[in-house]
Amino acid sequence: MAFVNKSNSETLKKYLSLDQKGKIQAEYIWIDGDGGIRGKTTTLDKYPAHASDLKEWNFDGSSTNQAPGDNSDVLLRPVAFFKDPFRGGDNIIVLCECWNNDGTPNRTNYRYSCAKVMSTFVDHHPWFGIEQEYTLFDTDGQVLGWPKGGYPGPQGPYYCSVGASNAFGRDIVEAHYRACLYSGITISGVNAEVMPGQWEFQVGPCEGINMGDHLWVARYLLHRVAEDFGVVVSFHPKPIPGDWNGAGCHTNYSTQAMREEGGIKAIHEAIEKMAEKHADHIAVYGEDNDKRLTGRHETGHITQFSSGVANRGASIRIPRHVAAEGKGYLEDRRPASNIDPYRVTEIVVNSTLA
Ligand code: ADP
Ligand code: MN
Ligand code: MN
Ligand code: MN
Ligand code: MN
Repeated sequence: MAFVNKSNSETLKKYLSLDQKGKIQAEYIWIDGDGGIRGKTTTLDKYPAHASDLKEWNFDGSSTNQAPGDNSDVLLRPVAFFKDPFRGGDNIIVLCECWNNDGTPNRTNYRYSCAKVMSTFVDHHPWFGIEQEYTLFDTDGQVLGWPKGGYPGPQGPYYCSVGASNAFGRDIVEAHYRACLYSGITISGVNAEVMPGQWEFQVGPCEGINMGDHLWVARYLLHRVAEDFGVVVSFHPKPIPGDWNGAGCHTNYSTQAMREEGGIKAIHEAIEKMAEKHADHIAVYGEDNDKRLTGRHETGHITQFSSGVANRGASIRIPRHVAAEGKGYLEDRRPASNIDPYRVTEIVVNSTLA
């Protein structure tokens, strides 16, 4: 029988139900040299109480675009762990920072400086909610549900859709949602997107460094769930050129001052500060974001900062209900789907609070 690259869940179940003799499988995961996620497993004798109980480990950074071949060992430092929805039981997923031999953070480690900034401004209690948009592809490179070699009908019926001719890949979305809840990810919702085959999940509100941690693990879970279904996840911000919506990572942001009575004043002040730093923000808001931020398809133009109440064509939107209540949060609509959330949350806090 030909090999099919998707999980045979019925057969696998037989093995996953075997007694694991008190040992724990820890899947160490990290961000690679190209914004992807990698992982490998080690056996633990006991369940950790804190991430700091977990051993440091290493990997071959020359195989992940993170180190040269002649000095290839990159160190994995555990920073957070979550329940593993794939292996179940006491098995865990361990999120790691990457460090070089000489004691410096690896070039891919944006968490380290983000964590420093978050601890500097901890008293402001910065909260984030990120809307992660993504596109599903079959292993032939066709968007899920699109006719082979062709295009579906124009956008309109697909956003928040139901029905077999509109919504493609819901099993994956449902499985991922439940996997996130099981793992302890602060996932706040999901919806089908404007482009068919495109979906969104929201993570938040998360305070400080937790935003990046939870989003990266949620992405990892999505890749793994989709793998079970023989489907590929793309975080490209404009996966299909033309009259098709791109994929973003709208970043909702608030400080304690913004959430309190009269917080709209702090929201406007933050927007003014972010306006001055537009180019600095765009520089860390994702690769190929110029293909997405065209000023069309519910985006503001990449070269021009704008803001407005309920305006989905602006760089920053103040949600209608926030304007009405006079407090709440703002939505930065510029970040692309392929951002590193550590870079985005760091610059947002730095620009608005430093
Ligand atoms: P949209 O209307 O833009 O599609 P969503 O409902 O998809 O918005 O996402 C809104 C996100 O904002 C959610 O992740 C939610 O947790 C987050 N959020 C809600 N309140 C706050 C807040 N005070 N500060 C930061 N994020 C918030
Ligand atoms: Mn949304
Ligand atoms: Mn969306
Ligand atoms: Mn969208
Ligand atoms: Mn949004």
